[in-house]
Amino acid sequence: MSRPDVIGEIFQTFHDHGTGAYLGEPVSLAEHMLQSALAAEQDGASATLVAAALLHDYGHLLHDLPEDCAEHGIDSRHEDLGHEFLSRHFPAAVVEPIRMHVAAKRYLCAIEPSYSLELSPASLLSLELQGGPFSPAEVAAFEANPYHEDAVRLRRYDDVGKAAGAKTRELEYYRPVLESVVNR
Ligand code: FE
Repeated sequence: MSRPDVIGEIFQTFHDHGTGAYLGEPVSLAEHMLQSALAAEQDGASATLVAAALLHDYGHLLHDLPEDCAEHGIDSRHEDLGHEFLSRHFPAAVVEPIRMHVAAKRYLCAIEPSYSLELSPASLLSLELQGGPFSPAEVAAFEANPYHEDAVRLRRYDDVGKAAGAKTRELEYYRPVLESVVNR
């Protein structure tokens, strides 16, 4: 798939599947990812990290598990689904933070006890399914990954991108951002 095609395909998937509810949050998946991308931009993040924020839950647009699957004890493994597709088209600086954004939640719960107090109820529920806070050995392994700091930053953009009715940019605004980072 050529470069313009993959960005077109991604945007089409946002339009076709992004309006679905987001796992017990008061925003749609597309709104959530647009809010996360804006948080990244406002934090002065690099283009690769803004792209990661915009695409971090892309895996949720690719599976057809019910949106309340966590309540039924099912972990959608959306971070791996998203990574599997996106890693064919984007560099590690984009897709590694995406792959690690669930791990970053488990990491932050381990190293920053107050962090779990800020999580939404849906995010706390999925935390248990995802394995709960990291052990000290898991913390060390996470910190050994060169992308772990960006994964933690992405996690914080993810956490703030859940505000009902918050204003975001249009998806189209991010086309040049994605074009600047997509594999050539
Ligand atoms: Fe998210």
